[in-house]
This record gives sequence, structure tokens and C-alpha cells, in this order.
Amino acid sequence: MTVVGGPTLPQERRLITPIPGPASQAIHARKLSAVARGVGTMLPVYVVAAGGGVLVDADGNSLIDFGSGIAVSTVGNSAPGVVSAVTDQVHAFTHTCFMITPYDGYIAVAEMLNRITPGAHEKRTALFNSGAEAVENAVKIARAFTRKPAVVAFDHAYHGRTNLTMAMTAKSAPYKSGFGPLAPEIYRAPLSYPFRDGGLDGVSAARRAIDVIDKQVGADNLAALVVEPIQGEGGFIVPATGFLPTLLDWCRANDVVFVADEVQTGFARTGTMFACDHEGLVPDLIVTAKGIAGGLPLSAVTGRAAIMEAPQAGGLGGTYGGNPLACAAALAVVDTIERDSLADRADAIGKTMFEQLSVLRAEDDRIGDVRGRGAMIALELVSPGTTDPDANLTKRVAAAAHSRGLVVLTCGTYGNVLRFLPPLSMPDHLLHEGLEVLAEIFREIR
Ligand SMILES: *Cc1c(COP(=O)(O)O)cnc(C)c1O
Repeated sequence: MTVVGGPTLPQERRLITPIPGPASQAIHARKLSAVARGVGTMLPVYVVAAGGGVLVDADGNSLIDFGSGIAVSTVGNSAPGVVSAVTDQVHAFTHTCFMITPYDGYIAVAEMLNRITPGAHEKRTALFNSGAEAVENAVKIARAFTRKPAVVAFDHAYHGRTNLTMAMTAKSAPYKSGFGPLAPEIYRAPLSYPFRDGGLDGVSAARRAIDVIDKQVGADNLAALVVEPIQGEGGFIVPATGFLPTLLDWCRANDVVFVADEVQTGFARTGTMFACDHEGLVPDLIVTAKGIAGGLPLSAVTGRAAIMEAPQAGGLGGTYGGNPLACAAALAVVDTIERDSLADRADAIGKTMFEQLSVLRAEDDRIGDVRGRGAMIALELVSPGTTDPDANLTKRVAAAAHSRGLVVLTCGTYGNVLRFLPPLSMPDHLLHEGLEVLAEIFREIR
């Protein structure tokens, strides 16, 4: 029997069993004995269909999705344009390996990324499978171009779980602990974190970072500075205005490649096609993944032609990179974003969330901060009257949301950030219902 998801699923929160229900629990028991425990599961409801703003589980429960599978199903699960493009492609061919006998879809995705990423300069693109793999390749490319070894990443950064990217990721447990030795020549600089740095202005925060980089690394040794324009896993931290442009100017003046990791922020998520667009920032290289292909595995590095052309022929690539199905999906995703003006939709979702969550914050002193951009919004939870992180409360609120049929994610170095990443296909009535569920939970949990 074919299960049909997508936007035609009834757009409702519907709880038939406790969460997780018996069918999910039975599958989960198999998970525990078949899947390595290192691969964690936040909420063991097993999904059978999804679309619009809901996830439907094996027990027939319908949950409101404020997570988009971590900012991936931005255009919605099984969005019609994606389903039809991938269906056509799967009937035509599924793989030839672009490095062996290539195909047009890969080129079309490269042209599309060269067009929509910030800056009108000449660009090139290379395709990969995951965010981490693309970040690694951005570092390879920057090293090949500059012939320098060092890489700077920031406090609270998240860049992935492969050997190089876990070294670039800030948080030890669970990402790095026990997995060393880590890759060398990775250095860390302080971020702009307005809620926790006393509101230090962006330019001063950048100068502070540059001072650390100058003293502890030295521009002569530095290939690349890699930064998430809005940090994802680290806590949806929006740096103060001026922080990123000041870093970019310093990179330009010092022959350092400025790499924007837009894996989580890209593809209309923050109310513009890319988060860099908010400050008119034109990075040298931009790394994309997550929202790029509606859930099919695809990632990319796009950037200045001179830099991208530095690695020798055969130095980049991989068996699956730019898989034809994923490329077909990516073209349909960007068509959908542009046709349906989804960046504006993200902006509208963000305004609604920000407004309602700010009301909640005004009446609840455990909510220290409401922040984010577009449909990437978070609450940072603290002990009242302080900035002390309250990870326990965060866990309890998330668990309560899950049991009421609202999927929310947590993040943050201190585990005290609730993050919201609804698909942009989320109907307004579900968005409001989700926010109402959150308000109820904050009123009830003491
Ligand atoms: C998720 C993420 C990555 C890693 O992407 P994977 O596809 O999980 O390897 C890298 N950078 C950022 C900012 C991310 O959010």
C-alpha cells in the first residue's frame, strides 16, 4: 500500500494514544536492539507520513512539526514539486557517478547555486552529500588556495561529526568526547553572543575575536575563518550587527578565506534566501546542505571562481556527490521557494512567533531571551533574574510539548535553548496552535 504524505494530509494535531504510542514503542524496541546507541533519537514516534505542518506516526497520531527534521523539510515534506521531480528522475536513472559519466542535473544545481548565493561575482560549485562533508571540502579548498594550514572556528560552533568537523565543533559531549585524537590546526575565537556578552557591539566583538586570532594563530598561518551567520546547534545565536562584516573585512585584508556555514540557515529559513543577505554579506565560500533538497542528501560548496578552482582536478568529489535524485529535488526546492515567495513566508512566520513568544516572555521571567530570524526562532531559558542556564526546565518543556503533540527541538552549549524551525508550509492555524500549546506548558510547569 502506498502511503501518501505531503500537504494534502489533514492539517491537524490529533492524539489517539499517549506519545509515543504502542506501535511506535514496538518499533523502538527493535531500534534499541538493532541500531547503535550512539545514534540517538530525541522523540521515538515513528513517522509514516508527513507534509504541510504535520508528522503522522505509526499509531495514527498527528503531531505539529516545529522542527522540519532540523531545518531540512523547509518547503514541507513530500512537497508536490519535489515529489514529481524525484519521481521523474527515479524512472529515468538513479546513478551514474558524476565523476564517470555526468548528467545535466548536477550542472543545473551548480548554476542555480551560483545564481542565488550572495554576490554577483563569478562562482563555481561542487556538490557533496552532507553538511559536514561540504564543510570539510570548504576547508580543503581554502587550504589549496591559500597554501596555509590553520582554520578558525568560533565558540558554540557546530560544523558536523566527521573527524575534521568535530574538531571545528565547539561542544565536547556528545560530539567529540572519546573520539580523539582530533584534527590539528583548528583554533577557536570568541563569538558575539548578545545575551551573554553584556550586549557588546558587533564591531567590538569582532575586534576581540581578531585580537585572539592575531595573537594565537596569525593571519600568515590562517587559511579560513568558518562561521555560521546565525549559530544553529550552539543556540540560535544571532551575532550583533557589524560582527560578521568586520570579520569579513579583516579576512579580505589578510588573505584569509571567509567561509559562511549556512547549512542550517540557508534556503529561505531566516526570511531571506541566505542569512548572509541580512547584512549584505558576500562570503568567499558558502556551505549549504539541510534545506537544499527537501530531505534528499545533498550539500554544496559555492564560491569565488579563483578560490574554487584552486584544488587540482580529481581532488574533490565522491561516489554519490550530486546524486541525480538529490539534484532533481534541489531544483524543485528552489523553484518552490521562489515561486511561492517562501522567504516572505519565513519572515511572516517569524513575526508571528516573535510577537507571541515575546508576550510569553513578558509574563515569565524564566524566559531570558527570544531571538532568531524568520522561521528560526528560539527561547533561552534561565533561572529567574539571572542568565544562569536552566537545562532542566528546557528538557521538561520539550518533553511536555512532545507529549501534547508538538515537536520542538532543544539546542545550545548549555542545553537551555528551545528552538523552533517550522516548515514554511506550516498553515497559520497550526502555527498558532503550536504557540498556544507552548504558552499552556509555561503556565502549567513551575
Ligand atoms: C547540521 C549542520 C552541519 C552538519 O551537517 P550534516 O548534514 O549533519 O553533516 C554543519 N553545519 C551546520 C551549521 C549545521 O547546522
